[in-house]
Amino acid sequence: MTSAPRPASPASSEDLHKRRAGAVARGVGSVIPSYVDHASGGTIVDVDGREWIDFAAGIAVTNVGNSAPRVVAAIREQAERFTHTCFMVAPYESYVAVCEQLNTLTPGTYEKRSALFNSGAEAVENAVKIARHVTGRAAVVVFDHAYHGRTNLTMALTAKNMPYKHRFGPFAGEIYRVPMSYPLRDGGLTGPVAAANAIELIEKQVGAENVAALLIEPIQGEGGFVVPAPGFLPALREWATAAGVVFVADEIQTGFCRTGDWFALDHEQVEPDLITLAKGIAGGLPLAAVTGRAELMDAVHVGGLGGTYGGNPIACAAALAAIETMHELDLPTAARNIEATMLPRLQTLAAQDPRIAEVRGRGAMLAVELVLPGTLTPDPTTTAAISAACHRLGLLTLTCGTYGNVLRFLPPLVIDTPTLTRALTLLETAFTTT
Ligand code: PMP
Repeated sequence: MTSAPRPASPASSEDLHKRRAGAVARGVGSVIPSYVDHASGGTIVDVDGREWIDFAAGIAVTNVGNSAPRVVAAIREQAERFTHTCFMVAPYESYVAVCEQLNTLTPGTYEKRSALFNSGAEAVENAVKIARHVTGRAAVVVFDHAYHGRTNLTMALTAKNMPYKHRFGPFAGEIYRVPMSYPLRDGGLTGPVAAANAIELIEKQVGAENVAALLIEPIQGEGGFVVPAPGFLPALREWATAAGVVFVADEIQTGFCRTGDWFALDHEQVEPDLITLAKGIAGGLPLAAVTGRAELMDAVHVGGLGGTYGGNPIACAAALAAIETMHELDLPTAARNIEATMLPRLQTLAAQDPRIAEVRGRGAMLAVELVLPGTLTPDPTTTAAISAACHRLGLLTLTCGTYGNVLRFLPPLVIDTPTLTRALTLLETAFTTT
């Protein structure tokens, strides 16, 4: 049974924002100054009763929508049975069941194992631990524009200084960065040529025999929704196999039906050795995972992987319910339908507005990159202004990109067509009035 939304909080967003300033550290930012009262499949309602169309999905988390009925029921039922025992102390079935699901759903036809964690950054840290342990090598290769998290190791893996790394060093060592295939900005290199350039740098500057892992987002998230040219990922995969390097796909943002398939690697039939997962996995509850080849995952000694909360039973129950919902509602198809509705409208907008250099992305992970007209010079100021105009109109958009000049769209995959269409009209208004 779904309960009716509670009445709006007696405190206004303005009151809460004032209270926040005296209580919450300034370093934790928020995109909008409105405070949430309740949210559903495609909208968020704030404490002032104002409705926002959700083009953020909590940064690609609520793929099944907010408070998805199955997820709510599973959470409630699990919370009444037990809330936490720690899987490393007294194990339970739902952890095992989530691992079974991940082993089946993720790309790769080989035998797999999984381990569960709390956040994306923690999953990435553990993938690096496993790759180093198995190979006995130290180096990790990452890409320009990459984002992998905010812990010390994942800050080192992340490309962008401000705001993620600035004055937070020294960072973990043995991280090497090579160019990403970025068709708009690398002169349109083909995927295989861009990969050959990256591989040459790795071989000359690091040495393949020193590389434990090559870590890549199949479509970059925070870095700007950068979709590599076709053939880039397969060429890197082939090289990693030949060089004995563990190929780690970070599908934390692209995973769980977001791009129109269960995982972004499915588009190019690339099989990773390890995959990191989080965000969309559990309908909004904190859960993350590393899934991969059984012989790599099982190489680590007992006790080498884990954590107090990793695979918390409520988060696991939510994940099983979210995955069921993805199957039941066929969310890969839903993401493709979102693309089919959005892409033509975005392309028409781009044809009329010379500030849009490119429309790109896949499924319900779409973006526009903004430049000074007639150049490739990034325009973060206009990007921020258009995003702010969207917010004034009631459309919750996010920006991203190394240059802050990408406006990205991440609706929940269950958003209904009238709401989606309304959102696109608001977006067009934001462009024409800014
Ligand atoms: N990897 C990618 C590709 C991400 O998009 C993110 C989060 N934006 C992370 C890692 C880190 O995840 P978390 O914030 O859950 O630590």
